[in-house]
Amino acid sequence: MSGILLKNEPLAKYTSWRVGGPAEQMYLPEGKEDLVEFLATLPEQEHIFWLGLGSNLLVRDGGIAGTVINTRGRLKGMQLIDTYKVYVEAGVPCAHVARFCTDLGLTGAEFLAGIPGTMGGALRMNAGAFGGETWNIVDSVELVDARGKVSKRGAEKFEVAYRSVKGLGDEWFLSVELILKKGESEQSQQKIKALLEKRALTQPTNKPTCGSVFMNPPGDYAARLIENSGLKGYAVGGACVSEKHANFIENTGHATAADIEELIEYVQQQVEQKQGVSLQTEVCSVGEAS
Ligand SMILES: Cc1cc2nc3c(=O)[nH]c(=O)nc-3n(C[C@H](O)[C@H](O)[C@H](O)COP(=O)(O)OP(=O)(O)OC[C@H]3O[C@@H](n4cnc5c(N)ncnc54)[C@H](O)[C@@H]3O)c2cc1C
Repeated sequence: MSGILLKNEPLAKYTSWRVGGPAEQMYLPEGKEDLVEFLATLPEQEHIFWLGLGSNLLVRDGGIAGTVINTRGRLKGMQLIDTYKVYVEAGVPCAHVARFCTDLGLTGAEFLAGIPGTMGGALRMNAGAFGGETWNIVDSVELVDARGKVSKRGAEKFEVAYRSVKGLGDEWFLSVELILKKGESEQSQQKIKALLEKRALTQPTNKPTCGSVFMNPPGDYAARLIENSGLKGYAVGGACVSEKHANFIENTGHATAADIEELIEYVQQQVEQKQGVSLQTEVCSVGEAS
């Protein structure tokens, strides 16, 4: 095996919130084949967690037991395989996918430009923005299970909804074939520019956050409910509800995962009490409390 195996690796530096305890062990695969080989060597009961760019993750302060597979900068193949079809491996950053498709004169992937995660994370979360959603452009995916068995399935085999994908067993995304439409590079570039400008104006993009903490309830916006509950600027330790966008929680420099978790619970409880709405988290909380 030619990847890198790290023991007791601190995870805070791999998450956009900059919090989280260590991974018991972390594997950085050389590529797909190497990863498949590595998975086959793990004990049957091993807990396996896949990490993309950690932009939608709350890793608790006690860290993650078992093995973390880190795809960042690893599964990074991307190529045009048919007139409108692009093959993308799980570790490719979404912004690179948007740029690649745009340069080829293909349209449909522009919304990915502002999502600071990997293609694998976008598939898992059905990430979306400004009307676009990841699974709207998926043709098929390549999966690997905990034993290293690889399979391919069409998008129609999955039940997809807002920030949710059902149909995955104990398996993860190795790659995807995206299906796009003929577009104009210039037009797509303009669209991306406008999307990024809008983001910078409305979101604290230069602060450590995980993007939207809560999913929007049907017909409403989590940010509106949080702001109307008077919670902008409310802080627990080093975690603070953003003044710029109420559905973002900023790490002001010294937050722990426990601070963030406590603040999330406080926001849920206040919004429930004041607005009668139960907010569900979009962010994935993983690992052990310390
Ligand atoms: C400033 C900011 C803005 C954001 N804006 C948006 C937005 O507009 N829209 C949006 O939808 N999200 C947004 N996000 C959230 C986040 O970027 C997305 O959810 C993104 O898709 C997560 O990708 P990731 O690689 O960082 O995944 P991670 O955070 O590393 O992981 C998220 C989940 O995906 C799983 N996962 C990762 N890789 C794989 C794989 N290969 N196979 C199976 N499971 C996998 C992980 O196990 C975990 O459960 C934003 C985040 C930030 C910080």
